[in-house]
Amino acid sequence: MSYERTDLYCGVFQWQAADGQAPVIRPTVPPPSFVPDPRTGRRLRISTIQASTPAICPACSCRAHGGFVSFEDDLRIAYACPRCMELIWIKGA
Ligand SMILES: [Zn+2]
Repeated sequence: MSYERTDLYCGVFQWQAADGQAPVIRPTVPPPSFVPDPRTGRRLRISTIQASTPAICPACSCRAHGGFVSFEDDLRIAYACPRCMELIWIKGA
């Protein structure tokens, strides 16, 4: 039986158990247009969403297929780690 969660990553991604390589996928429902800033609560408008992208998590160092979100007025990028099961915020360049 497959197991999935849509309550993670502010609804931007869907987490799916097993079947190997792509546990963080685009949700079956349309993703939100905004994600709240974890520090200020300000709504950040999403610019791009990339799901199932090979990456190394900056928080837990796990190599996985996670998801990336970039924002229109913010240089940070949020990484959806399949192991941490939350958005990890990465400082932009
Ligand atoms: Zn992680």
